[in-house]
Amino acid sequence: MNWLTNFVLPKIRAVVAKKDVPDNLWHKCPNCGQMLFHRDLEASLFVCGSCGHHLRLAPERRLSMLFDDGRYDAIELPKTVLDPLKFRDRKRYTERLKEAQARTGTGRDALVVAHGTVAGLPTVIAVFDFDFMGGSMGIAVGEGLLAAARLAVLQEAALLVVPASGGARMQEGILSLMQMSRTTLAVEMVKEKGLPYLVLLSDPTTGGVSASFAMLGDITLAEPGAVIGFTGARVIEETIREKLPEGFQRAEYLLDHGMVDMVVPRRELRDTLARLLGLLRRPAPPAQVVALRG
Ligand SMILES: [Zn+2]
Repeated sequence: MNWLTNFVLPKIRAVVAKKDVPDNLWHKCPNCGQMLFHRDLEASLFVCGSCGHHLRLAPERRLSMLFDDGRYDAIELPKTVLDPLKFRDRKRYTERLKEAQARTGTGRDALVVAHGTVAGLPTVIAVFDFDFMGGSMGIAVGEGLLAAARLAVLQEAALLVVPASGGARMQEGILSLMQMSRTTLAVEMVKEKGLPYLVLLSDPTTGGVSASFAMLGDITLAEPGAVIGFTGARVIEETIREKLPEGFQRAEYLLDHGMVDMVVPRRELRDTLARLLGLLRRPAPPAQVVALRG
């Protein structure tokens, strides 16, 4: 029996395992249900080739799409107090944090901050990770945004924030709500130095995040179809007892109603960003100005 379990069984398992198809080769489009091959998806910047749905991105992928040549340096964010309220619902908050960190394979929270260049211009980009507890904003995220703003000021760089968040982190109670004012002040620091502050609203941007720094951009961009709002549509419908209009809280709806400046498809994002930063950071005319004579 020993020989069978110790020698034969592992061999059989190895042969069977080799034939297994890795489960990440195919992704299902959450909008149209089309099966998408991972290589095609990477080539299309994670936009569904069938319906144009913009899939959610891991922060590292987003950063390499935005920076010149995909090169950037992520900074270490300040360590913050974990579980200040000793919160527990069905699980302990510390347990939830550990699970989320195990899933992302890093020791970080829901925000990644990096610096590099976009169109040759120094830029700091802060990206939310929706996979980390719904991209919720607690003390660590607030602290991270402050660090991003300080870095932008230090490097005289533009600041771009890409939220993907369900809002405040309820496990941190009032302390998470305080991050709304802290992040607003962080943005003010950048603006006071005359540096551009841009926001790219990605799916979803809701709750306390949409009610603070996310709506304060000098220019507000959004990805097509992104859900952007404060309260969920179903809750609003139940409260006001009325049917909401078609496309309510989508990027295009907000563009029509003046809350968003541009809705930019992902493949045009880099060029658009480069153009905007160029206009904001290189205000001098590219050629010598010649006075007109009468
Ligand atoms: Zn699709």
